[in-house]
Amino acid sequence: MRRNSFLDYVKKKAINSKDFIIHKRKIFFKDNLSEDIFLNRVINFIESNVPEELFQYIDYFIIGDFNSFKEREINALYHEGVIYISNIQEDEQDLIDDIIHELAHSIEKNQKGLIYGGVSLESEFHSRRMKLYQKLLDEGFNEVRKMKDKFSNPEYDSDFDFFIYENIGYENIRKYASSIFVTPYAVTSLEEYFATGFEYYFLKSRKKLREVSPYLFSVIERIYEELVGKRREYI
Ligand SMILES: [Zn+2]
Repeated sequence: MRRNSFLDYVKKKAINSKDFIIHKRKIFFKDNLSEDIFLNRVINFIESNVPEELFQYIDYFIIGDFNSFKEREINALYHEGVIYISNIQEDEQDLIDDIIHELAHSIEKNQKGLIYGGVSLESEFHSRRMKLYQKLLDEGFNEVRKMKDKFSNPEYDSDFDFFIYENIGYENIRKYASSIFVTPYAVTSLEEYFATGFEYYFLKSRKKLREVSPYLFSVIERIYEELVGKRREYI
């Protein structure tokens, strides 16, 4: 073994054997994160901003480069108790966003009754989609007419997704949907409406979420109360 490769080996070993844990759930590495990401900062931030009880559907995390990320153009995924996260991250915030977003999906998959019970969240999402439809029509995007049925479908639909991001464009959605949805990605489907709202609640502005999506805001508060056992304290 050459000296350099031996040093690399030791370094790698040291990184891999150091335990990184978020609220008692271990982070495993399939591939290493880039060196300029300080994982301890990410862990500290999450542990002090999101209570442990909300992690009850997570067994562990795996960081790495997975084929399904490329195939599905995603960089994180929740599946059966595990959060898979890409090792390619721009900065610590990017990694925090991914973890909180997938945390939302873990709760969404396990608390459907609490989230979708009744029809209110779906009807709020539906009314937002219809507002966006009308807004785009008013702004001269006549091609939305042929997609009208798709605007009424709360499920993920790849044709709708393609239409929104390729035909209309992310920047136009950001521009015209800013008072209708908290982020352009919330337009994607009812599940993403919930997940982006959850992310926004913990990482951005609860105030804006309450203004833009009041019912979604109340659902997240209810989940918090139910899983954590107390109301969220406001500072
Ligand atoms: Zn998602």
